[in-house]
Amino acid sequence: MRLHALAKINLALDVLGKRPDGYHDVRMIMQTISMYDDLNLEIKKEPGIELRTNLAYIPTDSRNLAWRAAELLMQEFGIRDGLKIDLEKYIPVTAGLAGGSSDAAAVLVGVNRLFGLGLSTEELMERGVILGADVPYCVMRGTALAEGIGEKLTRLPSVPGCHVVVGKPAVNVSTKTAYESLNTDSITARPDIDGMIECIQKGDLYGITSRMKNVFEPGIARKYPVITEIAELLCRHGAMNAIMSGSGPTVFGIFEKKGEAEKAAAALRESRKARTVHLTRVFRVA
Ligand code: ATP
Repeated sequence: MRLHALAKINLALDVLGKRPDGYHDVRMIMQTISMYDDLNLEIKKEPGIELRTNLAYIPTDSRNLAWRAAELLMQEFGIRDGLKIDLEKYIPVTAGLAGGSSDAAAVLVGVNRLFGLGLSTEELMERGVILGADVPYCVMRGTALAEGIGEKLTRLPSVPGCHVVVGKPAVNVSTKTAYESLNTDSITARPDIDGMIECIQKGDLYGITSRMKNVFEPGIARKYPVITEIAELLCRHGAMNAIMSGSGPTVFGIFEKKGEAEKAAAALRESRKARTVHLTRVFRVA
């Protein structure tokens, strides 16, 4: 069974504060993009989960979220057969694009179908949160408001079709460090999330993009100025707006016209400011 695990961007990301359990309460506008990892799932007669990936530095055991997703369902349903997972990673790793969470979501969907478990999307999302706060959203896909630790989801209408240039600079930012270096009391510029929701409901792409903001960006970009350089380059080349996704360091720009997005992607590649550059589109659920 072949599956696509789609990446996400955060059109807006706000961190409200730290909770007694150490997690943070967030408020984010999530958007799936048509950039994906390829997965192939195959039942095997010998018990156990066998995972192979194209990237040597990704764990292939229980540290891999895709592996854990398979184990979660196979244990709950007492599945005796084994499972072979072939994972081709194209989504940059530790990038703020939820690649690992999306692999886990795809495996939940795939194992449910492959073994005929009969779980609904909601039931898969409930299990997903055990693996990570972003996993339920990755099962749901599309445009959504995420609250709580990211698991409380409200579906929003699809944003108008548009093109996305995604550039990941050659720096690594762990989500843990990003949260640790954020002082939620001293955030001065927060995104207007309610305003963005209104614009999404009206299908107003200009209103949506003019409200794009990520509270992690000022702190991370101070440490890695290349983030601001990439965002500025994309805006100079016609992006309606460009910001960092998640806890970074990936930057994305939104474009109305494909031609402009292509030119901006070419300029970003030429600048060598990003290690990987992808040209994609927002993914709209049917
Ligand atoms: P998020 O946007 O949710 O913060 P991310 O893009 O920062 O995600 P990922 O690429 O999902 O981060 O994962 C980063 C870490 O998780 C790496 O240290 C990697 O070894 C580990 N990991 C576990 N499973 C996977 C997977 N299936 N794909 C990629 N990384 C994985």
